[in-house]
Amino acid sequence: MAQIKSLCIYCGSKAGTNPAHRALAVDVGTGVANRGWTLVYGGGGIGLMTVAADAALTAGGKVIGAIPTHLANSEIRHVGLSELILTDSMHERKAAMFDRADAFAVLPGGLGTLDEFFEILTWRQIGLHDKPVIVVDNDKYWAPLEQLVDQVIGEGFASDSAHELFSVVDGAEAMFEALAAAPDPTIGPRPDRI
Ligand code: AMP
Repeated sequence: MAQIKSLCIYCGSKAGTNPAHRALAVDVGTGVANRGWTLVYGGGGIGLMTVAADAALTAGGKVIGAIPTHLANSEIRHVGLSELILTDSMHERKAAMFDRADAFAVLPGGLGTLDEFFEILTWRQIGLHDKPVIVVDNDKYWAPLEQLVDQVIGEGFASDSAHELFSVVDGAEAMFEALAAAPDPTIGPRPDRI
């Protein structure tokens, strides 16, 4: 089984309109802290992301944020984190988050969250990593995303094995169960998944 010590979450810089998403973020942040894991995220002090970060901190967890200096004001860098990494670019931010994470969870979010999901997914597709990627659905928010990936596969623009690149679960408990059951990352490229 994969040895998870840190979980990177991708989620909204807005909180959204469905209060259930806020509750999910609290459960994820609290659950990460209760397991003694480190929460890694984009370092902002706004939106769903800070709900999860604050929940982890409140539960006594370690939280690492990574934010580019040009966003540190607009996304209001979180000032209470265990560690805040300031980067020169989005690329460095994403690399800093990637390096510190054993697994990735995609919570409800907007276009930036989609960008982050597809980047980490396609990095796995081309064999740059083999860390678990879990889409955490809530009130069917991500159902259209699953349909989109099915469409891409169905029309022959990705292989069936693209389904193995990520899993979709419903809620925080299912996410932790999926992470507990995730196999050890395979070291090295997996061209069979391309
Ligand atoms: P959003 O889901 O749009 O609220 O954004 C969530 C996070 O994704 C924010 O911290 C954004 O800074 C970040 N993000 C990552 N990549 C991008 C990108 N290419 N464009 C916009 N935001 C991004």
